[in-house]
Amino acid sequence: MPTTLIEPFRIKSIEPIRMTTRAERERLLDEARLNPFRLRAEDVLIDWLTDSGTGAMSSRQWGAIMEGDESYAGARSFYRLQAVIRELTGMEHFMPTHQGRAAEKVLFTAACRKGDVVPNNCHFDTTRANLEYLGVEALDLVIPEGLQPALIHPFKGNIDLDRVEHLLRTRGDSIPFGMITVTNNTGGGQPVSMANMRAYSELLHRHGKPLIMDVCRFAENAMFIKMREPGYTDVPVKAIVQEMFSLADGCTMSAKKDGMVNIGGFIVLRDEQWMDAVRNMLILTEGFPTYGGLAGRDLEALAVGLQEGIDEDYLRYRLRTAEYLGERLETAGVGIMRPTGGHAVYIDARSILPDMPVEQYPAWALCNALYLQGGIRGVEIGSVMFGKRREDGSETYHSMELVRLAFPRRMYTQSHFDYAAEVIAEVKEDARNIRGVRIVKQPPFLRHFTCECAWA
Ligand SMILES: *Cc1c(COP(=O)(O)O)cnc(C)c1O
Repeated sequence: MPTTLIEPFRIKSIEPIRMTTRAERERLLDEARLNPFRLRAEDVLIDWLTDSGTGAMSSRQWGAIMEGDESYAGARSFYRLQAVIRELTGMEHFMPTHQGRAAEKVLFTAACRKGDVVPNNCHFDTTRANLEYLGVEALDLVIPEGLQPALIHPFKGNIDLDRVEHLLRTRGDSIPFGMITVTNNTGGGQPVSMANMRAYSELLHRHGKPLIMDVCRFAENAMFIKMREPGYTDVPVKAIVQEMFSLADGCTMSAKKDGMVNIGGFIVLRDEQWMDAVRNMLILTEGFPTYGGLAGRDLEALAVGLQEGIDEDYLRYRLRTAEYLGERLETAGVGIMRPTGGHAVYIDARSILPDMPVEQYPAWALCNALYLQGGIRGVEIGSVMFGKRREDGSETYHSMELVRLAFPRRMYTQSHFDYAAEVIAEVKEDARNIRGVRIVKQPPFLRHFTCECAWA
């Protein structure tokens, strides 16, 4: 039996990518104010900025797009997608949104008040920003193992139940719901075990609090459960997915991840709580509840994508891809978050730049170096993304300095990964020439998207 795990698809349509010279990239990064978000995509060779909405759709999805019913109210495409989502989640109420953060905004506006606190393993950046915008405290309570990049643990996305219980006892009145993010994007794309989700759900319910899951990568999380959690080896991923959803009272979803589409999101809720408020808010900011900011064709593509996203051959290949790059990097002596997560490899920038002061944003600096060396675009998950400049000019910093290489679904082949491994090894060899940065201009929220930097 051959042991090589192949891409379980063949290519029907291609999109050329463009090589640039080092000199060109230096000029381009300069023009982008040393912020890779500000680069033009066509100036990037391998774009691993995000796995969000960047993947390749299947021929079945493109076929479904022609079936889109663009009626304003009550479109057939809505009911087709609703049926798929009800089957997977077991939840009655489904509302599409244009993407994940819209689902967050609509739900949080309906369910939270200023002064509230929401526990989560780790809030994703848009989740945190949407809560903080409403004056709600977003509390990250991932298990301590989840904060140690080099430590091997099968479920580093688990939430620390003791700390949740303490929070429920001391500030219970201010908790509108508990959240859990699967997989834990901010913490390294690490999965949450079924046992942890179940215990968390039971704990919240004992205190009369609902559980809202951020389910962007529910399929990858389910595959990790199948591969790692005792008792699940022979359970089909679809059944694992259904069991996960059975523990929740509601979900926010960015369909741009495991929905396998380029745009979309949704809210699902098990019962009537918040429904009127959510629906009103949805109409105000997204659109009529049967399309919620999407075209009918988007709903069709998502209905197919949700089913393709739980295909086990696809998921096995998907998780192996990240693992493969991780192995190559470790061989080259590059520190990564271990074990590799589902959608990305996270490089521990400290392993390459141990002496760069945090004030020079080492992960941001490494990110820039990857672009300059090989035209690869990753994203900093560190103190630019999660630090803050206070009003008095002082700064707070993030506990980890990571560079995330996130892989669009069904898009890059093994040779792209081999090339990237070589580029990263070269950057490591040349680490003393990597320059830090300072931020010269920044907005008050989500500053990494638009900030302007200069060399430190
Ligand atoms: C992407 C993402 C979101 C936000 O979704 P968008 O579609 O980008 O608005 C929320 N939570 C997690 C965990 C995500 O990965």
